[in-house]
Formats: sequence, C-alpha cells, structure tokens
Amino acid sequence: MLSFDLRDLAAQASRVDGELPESDPIWEEGDARPRGALRVTGRVSAAGPGRFYFSGHLEGVATASCRRCLEPVEEPVKADLHLLLVDGSSDEADEADVYLIDARERELDLRPAIREEWLLAAPSYMVCSDACLGLCPSCGANKNLGACGCTPAVDPRWHALSPVGGDAR
Ligand SMILES: [Zn+2]
Ligand SMILES: [Zn+2]
Repeated sequence: MLSFDLRDLAAQASRVDGELPESDPIWEEGDARPRGALRVTGRVSAAGPGRFYFSGHLEGVATASCRRCLEPVEEPVKADLHLLLVDGSSDEADEADVYLIDARERELDLRPAIREEWLLAAPSYMVCSDACLGLCPSCGANKNLGACGCTPAVDPRWHALSPVGGDAR
C-alpha cells in the first residue's frame, strides 16, 4: 500500500512497505517503467498542518535497449528518498522539490511522487557492457556475436604489413 489515511497520519506516523507495479495506472505513456514492481519502504509522518514527510527507499530494475547493440538491458536502481508533500494551503506549495497533494482527499497517495522519483533515478542511457561493440554500420549485425564478414574500413597502410598468401599452411 502506498496510500495513507490523512487523519491517521496526523495522529501517528506510518511505516511504508509497498510496491508500485509496472502495470499501475499511475504510469504514463512513455515512462521508463520498472521491470515487475518498484519496492518502496520507509516512514511517512505528518509535519505540521497540511504537510507530510516521507523518508525512505526506492528499489527497482530499470530496463531499456542497449544504446549500441539494441539488446535488452537491465540495471538495478536504488534511491534514498526524502520527500515533502504539502497541500495547496502551504507556503511551500510552489517550491520545486515539494510534491503537492490535494487537501480534499482523505488519503495521502505517495504514487505520483514515487513515479517522479523513479523517473529521475532510472538511468536514461544504458549499455549492455562498456565493451559492447555495437552494430555493424554496413549490415546491422550485432558485432558482439562475432565478425559479420563485412570488410572493415582499414587504414590502407596496414595492407603493406599483412602477410601475403593467408593459405600458406
Ligand atoms: Zn550492447
Ligand atoms: Zn557487417
């Protein structure tokens, strides 16, 4: 669960231990969703009228295509979160790092803030390996799987050094 009754919170802080599934409707078109679900843990508490503080941890697996060879890649992502959530009556409502909540709601829904924090934490550039060779620009083959047979563009000076007659044996 990532929703908390506001009146309960006013009386007592609550432990957060929930998941935000990949299929949750909070995700928007084009979001880099996590694989499976995000795990969210921590503690949420009231911090004055219309103010709530969440301190905790986010953990998930980012998925993308390798930017060089386009193979699927996964990368574990962890982030510490310290979020202030305020309703519109607060002086802080306009501040950039503060999440706005609807004072008419009876529940504090952490999902919109978790979604944004995930999008910030997930890497936007992923490669399957720093040594990834990428795709052949001529035939499109994945060069990590072996030579594709295309003639590499070799500096012509190297030809003078090549052994003559490769079938000497
Ligand atoms: Zn790659
Ligand atoms: Zn090729």
